[in-house]
Amino acid sequence: MLALLYPKQYVSSLFDVDPDDLLRRGIRGILFDLDNTIVPRDVSRCPREITAWLEKLKQHGFKICIVSNNNTQRVRLVADALAVPAVCHAIKPLKRPFRRAMELMGTGPHETAIIGDQIFTDILGGNRLGLYTVLVSPLPGREFWATRLFNRRMEKFVLSRLKKRSYW
Ligand SMILES: [Mg+2]
Repeated sequence: MLALLYPKQYVSSLFDVDPDDLLRRGIRGILFDLDNTIVPRDVSRCPREITAWLEKLKQHGFKICIVSNNNTQRVRLVADALAVPAVCHAIKPLKRPFRRAMELMGTGPHETAIIGDQIFTDILGGNRLGLYTVLVSPLPGREFWATRLFNRRMEKFVLSRLKKRSYW
């Protein structure tokens, strides 16, 4: 069970993700979590430097799709501005939203990565389907109260275990 919580890669910033490394791994499609991954939670648009970085990924030939547990209105606003497809009300870590997102990108599990800031939604869901999972430190900003109260505490515990094992 614990193995399903381990990301394949851990980065402190989105900009540390190396597109060439992903290509070498055979990745063609990248799923992005929305809140605290590409957009701070209390903001309604993607910061300019992240938008530019996502454009660079598109130029590299990657398909991109947003998978978010947040509501349609918020997710669509960001996705439309970026001109990428999105799966809203995703209920990660269920498998279905990840499958739907891969369908939208036309990629299979072994050529798909998920980049997100939460172990218990993004990483667990991605690992359940055999995706290449990348955990990124959350963007600064206010968080959903339940995330702060439950998930972050559990994550601290898991991350400390991983660091002790010098997993990365
Ligand atoms: Mg998030």
